[in-house]
Amino acid sequence: MEYRKVGRSGLFLSEFSLGSWVTFSNQLDFPSATNIMALAFERGVNFYDNAETYGDGNSEIIMGKVLAKLNWSRDSFCVSSKVLWGGNRPTQKGLSRKHIVDACHNALKRLQVEYLDIFYCHRPDLDTPILETVVTMNHLITQGKVLYWGTSEWPPELIVKANEVAKQNGLVGPNVEQPEYNMFNRQKVEKDYLYLYEDMGLGLTTWSPLASGVLTGKYNESIPSDSRLSLLNFTWLQSLVLSDKGKEKISKVKLLSSLAQDYNFTTTQLSLLWCLQNKHVSTIILGASKLTQLEENLNVLDFKNKYTAELHTEIEKILNNTPLQEIDWKNA
Ligand code: NDP
Repeated sequence: MEYRKVGRSGLFLSEFSLGSWVTFSNQLDFPSATNIMALAFERGVNFYDNAETYGDGNSEIIMGKVLAKLNWSRDSFCVSSKVLWGGNRPTQKGLSRKHIVDACHNALKRLQVEYLDIFYCHRPDLDTPILETVVTMNHLITQGKVLYWGTSEWPPELIVKANEVAKQNGLVGPNVEQPEYNMFNRQKVEKDYLYLYEDMGLGLTTWSPLASGVLTGKYNESIPSDSRLSLLNFTWLQSLVLSDKGKEKISKVKLLSSLAQDYNFTTTQLSLLWCLQNKHVSTIILGASKLTQLEENLNVLDFKNKYTAELHTEIEKILNNTPLQEIDWKNA
C-alpha cells in the first residue's frame, strides 16, 4: 500500500480506502463489517468513509462498534462523515450552522470517536450563505472536533468561493473534494477541477471506482440476484445497465473484459488500475459486500507495474470518452 498526500495538506491517506455506502447495514452486519474492516486495516488501509445519511445513521453505528471492538490506535486511522441529509425536519438537513453542528455531534457519538478526520458537505446547499457554512466548519476545527473539511460533488466555482470567503475572514477553507471517478465518469476530476489542484492544492477522495459494480463485468449478461442492483432500496441503480446509456456502457465493459483477459487481469482489476493512474486522486474509496471482493480489489496493488502505456492506450480506445470540454467557469 502506498500513501498519497491529500492535495497540499500534510495528510497522507492510503491509495485505497474503504467506504460504507449501501454495504454497511444493508448487506453487512456488525460481524461481517468487522471482518472487512480488519482485513482492510491489515492490508494498510488508513481511511474509512461514512456519512450521516448512510443506512439512516446505522452505517456510522456499525462502523463505530467495529472501531471500538478492533481498538486501533486513534492515530493510525482516519474516519470521515458527511453532512446534508440527516432527516426530514427543516433543522435536520442542509448546511446551516444548526445542522452542521448537530450532524457532527451525532457522527462523533455514532462512530465513537472524539474527532472526525474529514467532515464533508455532502452536496452544496444554496439556501445557506456560504459564509455560515465556512464559519461553522472553522468553528468545529478550532474546537478539535474536525481536522479537515471538504465538499462532495460541488461545482468548482463554489469550492473557489468557499476558499475565498475563508481567506477573507482568516478561516480554514475546504481542502478536499469527494467526486465520483471511474471509467464512465471523468469530467469533474479530469477537467472541471484542474485549476483547483494548482490554485488551491485541492485533494480528492474519489467514490464508486467500479460504478457500483458495473465495471466488474458482473452485469455483462444479467443482474445477479445477490448484487447491489438487485437490492430492494437500490433498484433505481438498475438504469446504470438497463437504460440506453447503460447498455452502451455494458458493451464497453464486455470489450474491457476481453482486454483484461489478454493481460491476465480481472475486469475489476483493470478498472481499479486505471483509476490509480490519476495522480490528482489522493485515495480511491472502495466498496465491498464480501471479504473476497475486498481481497481481489486490494490485490490489484501487486500488479501496478503490469499496467503499461500500451494497455492504457487500448483502454482509452475502448472508452472513447476523454472529457473534451473544460467548463470555463472563471469567465462564466
Ligand atoms: P464501487 O463502485 O466500487 O462499488 C462497490 C460494489 O461493487 C460492492 O459493494 C459490490 O457490490 C461490487 N463489487 C466490488 N468489488 C467487487 C468485486 N471484486 N467483484 C464483484 N463485485 C464487486 O464503490 P461504491 O459505489 O460502493 O462507492 C465506494 C464508497 O464511496 C462508498 O462506500 C462511499 O463511502 C463513497 N461514496 C460517496 C458518495 C458521495 O456522494 N460522496 C456516493 C457514493 C459512494 P455487490 O456485491 O452488492 O454487487
